Amino acid sequence: MSEISHWRTKGRYYRLLGSKCEECGGEYFPPVRVCPKCGSRRIADKEMPKRGKILVHTVLYSPLSGFEDQVPMILAFVELENGVRVFSQITDAKPEEVKDGDEVEMVFRRVRVLGRDGQILYGYKFKKV
Ligand SMILES: [Zn+2]
Repeated sequence: MSEISHWRTKGRYYRLLGSKCEECGGEYFPPVRVCPKCGSRRIADKEMPKRGKILVHTVLYSPLSGFEDQVPMILAFVELENGVRVFSQITDAKPEEVKDGDEVEMVFRRVRVLGRDGQILYGYKFKKV
């Protein structure tokens, strides 16, 4: 993701803004232009719920490039209260403190530091409630 596209989408991610189909009521994140269920193009912005639970999670012990300071990294599929599933990092917890089924809520956190000028990118993560 380039820096420019990140800044353009920053507000969207901060609010966890997804889509709602005005035909069948399906809700989606990331946002869609066409409803995958009914094919409708009558799509409205819809803010996703901030709370959900961990469906399944994994722990990375080998650093990804740019994330060396965040090992071990806990990654999870979180099912939001409206049934939408998002893939996200779990923050503010040790791996042994996280289990599937835990209640979590969205928080806005530093995601990574870019390059030599140290530009910091922010985005959503989830933490245990
Ligand atoms: Zn639909």
